Amino acid sequence: DLLFTEGRVDFQNVCFSYTAGKEILSEVSFTVMPGQTVALVGPSGSGKSTIIRLLFRFYDVQGGCILIDGQDISKVKQNSLRSYIGVVPQDTVLFNDNIRENIRYGRISASDQEVEEAAVAADIHHKILSFPDGYDTEVGERGLKLSGGEKQRVAIARTILKSPRIILLDEATSALDSQTECNIQASLAKVCANHTTLVVAHRLSTIIKADQILVLHDGRIAEQGRYFHL
Ligand code: ATP
Ligand code: MG
Repeated sequence: DLLFTEGRVDFQNVCFSYTAGKEILSEVSFTVMPGQTVALVGPSGSGKSTIIRLLFRFYDVQGGCILIDGQDISKVKQNSLRSYIGVVPQDTVLFNDNIRENIRYGRISASDQEVEEAAVAADIHHKILSFPDGYDTEVGERGLKLSGGEKQRVAIARTILKSPRIILLDEATSALDSQTECNIQASLAKVCANHTTLVVAHRLSTIIKADQILVLHDGRIAEQGRYFHL
């Protein structure tokens, strides 16, 4: 279908509503240059996660367009678009399979060792080993007990393994202890270094490091710039 090579993202006058009459995003325009990290911040309900969902094409825009490397994503096959993007949603839902396959998902050629290395990098390896069946533990049926933040770390491990050109991260609002947070940020910094990253950021440490911050208010970009300029 096509090959994205750079990882540049353009939102051009994007408008979107989930239900008729209630506009959620209004004329949203911004550019993320290849390799940059953009932090999306703003009050609850301002449209941050919606931006992530549109870029992954959970929904199509109703006005304007979204381009990756100059190509309108609405004209790209969903599979090829998604092979190019890694997404860590706000509320990660795991697949009804074992935890190893949940991490391997999207990179079926990865070895068990690579899966475990990704889990170590996402700081979820020890938690997985604490289950009697370890990496073979089935998710769902036998009631795998993972918190929201732990499930999100499984999704981070998956993303680390996939190493996509564009990473979309909707940070969990749940508080992590500072050591865990520090470990994960170091791992993400490693994978994100050469990748374009859009992160819905709740943590100041994430916001400070971003190349660009977009402040959303009621579905519009109210302010834009680097941390020390805002
Ligand atoms: P938070 O910080 O709480 O995660 P957010 O900025 O990510 O908030 P969004 O999830 O983008 O907010 O939601 C923006 C608006 O769209 C909210 O008013 C929300 O109620 C509405 N919304 C979100 N998802 C849906 C949906 N599936 N159907 C209808 N409305 C929705
Ligand atoms: Mg959200």
